[in-house]
Parts: sequence; structure tokens; C-alpha cells
Amino acid sequence: MTYVIAEPCIDVKDQACVDVCPVDCIHEAERILVIDPEECIDCGACEPECPVEAIFPEDTLPAKWQAFVRINTAYGAGVDAVDSLVTAYVDGHGTPS
Ligand code: SF4
Repeated sequence: MTYVIAEPCIDVKDQACVDVCPVDCIHEAERILVIDPEECIDCGACEPECPVEAIFPEDTLPAKWQAFVRINTAYGAGVDAVDSLVTAYVDGHGTPS
């Protein structure tokens, strides 16, 4: 289990979570922040800091945002991989309001 950043972060990227993460595993892509599951220690510190409630433990991630498990994990393949998955997601769902 790890923590996942979901749709509400797109085009927000508040960064409050970055400031509290003890292992610096929250990374910035073009339109979203993502948590590298290889680095996350599941401490939960980031979850209450997010002003748009975009951060969830993977096992409570709403079904409509399951695509974000892959989007966060894609960081392992590089920021470009994250960006292309976010573009595909937004194209498929419309631009988040
Ligand atoms: Fe960082 Fe902890 Fe959040 Fe994982 S759960 S991203 S280690 S603050």
C-alpha cells in the first residue's frame, strides 16, 4: 500500500504536501504532483495537508480515480511518462474544473 495523488491536484500543485514529506518522495510533473511508491514510507503526513483533498491511501482511493495509481507509479519511468498519462486522462475526462 502507498499513498496516491489524484485528479484534484491537476493544475493546482499546492506543494503543502511536499513540505511535510519526510523522505522527499513527492515529485512535480507538468500538471500534477505524484508520489513515488518506491520511496513513500506510508507515514500519512501529506494527506491532511492537501487543501484540495487529492491524497489518498491506495486502498481508499475512489474508484473513479483508479487511473492515478498508474499515473503516480509512472514516475519510476520518468516525468514524461507521468505527463503523457495525465494528458491522456484529461483528454478522456475533460479538463478538471
Ligand atoms: Fe511522503 Fe509520508 Fe505522504 Fe508517503 S505518506 S508521500 S512518505 S508524506
